[in-house]
Amino acid sequence: VRIAGAAAVTVLEGLDISSGATPAGSRHVVVALQVGAASIRAALVDRSAVQLAVEAGMTPQTNTPDLLEAIALLAGRLIAQACGEGLVPVGVGVAVPGIVDEELGLVRRSANLVWKDVALRQILADRLRLPVVLEQDARAGARGEALLGAGRYAPDFLFMVVGDGIGSAVVLDGHPRTGVHGVAGEVGHIRVREDGLPCGCGGHGCAETLATGDLTGVAEILDDGAGGASAATVVWRDAMAGLASSMAAAVAVLDCSLVVLGGRLATSAGERLVRSLQTELGARLSLVPPPDLQLARLGDAASLMGVASSAFEAAGLPAVAKAWRTLARPA
Ligand SMILES: [Zn+2]
Repeated sequence: VRIAGAAAVTVLEGLDISSGATPAGSRHVVVALQVGAASIRAALVDRSAVQLAVEAGMTPQTNTPDLLEAIALLAGRLIAQACGEGLVPVGVGVAVPGIVDEELGLVRRSANLVWKDVALRQILADRLRLPVVLEQDARAGARGEALLGAGRYAPDFLFMVVGDGIGSAVVLDGHPRTGVHGVAGEVGHIRVREDGLPCGCGGHGCAETLATGDLTGVAEILDDGAGGASAATVVWRDAMAGLASSMAAAVAVLDCSLVVLGGRLATSAGERLVRSLQTELGARLSLVPPPDLQLARLGDAASLMGVASSAFEAAGLPAVAKAWRTLARPA
């Protein structure tokens, strides 16, 4: 391996990457993409976890070829920009919601994106001529938080993203677990109500059926204390009960000391969410002490940074992500 530890340390100390004195390896960058139901975000990330450039585009709602084209165009634009600035793109990482087979590089199922068994990794690798890594977005987010965020000092934690749905991942020994079927840690689909509503997963009464929708709006009504507050109280309480029930099951299995909360609800109603869950969780755990609940530190950049670290790894530079854990001031 040509990238010596010394080179990595130099970069971490903040040497200007445009300076001629910088070691060649420090010009390495990766393109990280996060494909969401509404938009695609992309960033050029350097070895010291800095986003040098960002791009965004709408997610085409038409068909798979249009979606692939949109992803490839965004990535291609950042690759061209990097080359124009004398940087060296070494890999591409893509975070996708749904069921993802990371080993085979397949998007198995992605309800929002209407994908079924798409060989995304190979398609993009052929098009972009760089190593490509594919990762399920909650796992990518968990990896980002493990390396640079709230999970840096906890080897084991549960990561939960609450927004339109519930995404979640289990991190053990610093690494998100995939599971045999690629759905390890999907606690949002634990049944918490026998008589609950049907869920998109095919089951019913899942935590996701209680704890999604416009909870941000509900939290705002509660904050205002204005009219409609009593109905909002019931919706919020049911949502927190659903979240806490699924979370308690995971915590009982893992005996972890930390749960990291991300996603739109954590961003908009963070403190209220933490307080409510602390109470509900405490009431549901007996043998296991309630874990510390923390808001994701990277916000909506967690998946991008997680998949960026995986892209460095796919490019044969695993030392880069390892060094991120010791960065003094993460991006
Ligand atoms: Zn479900």
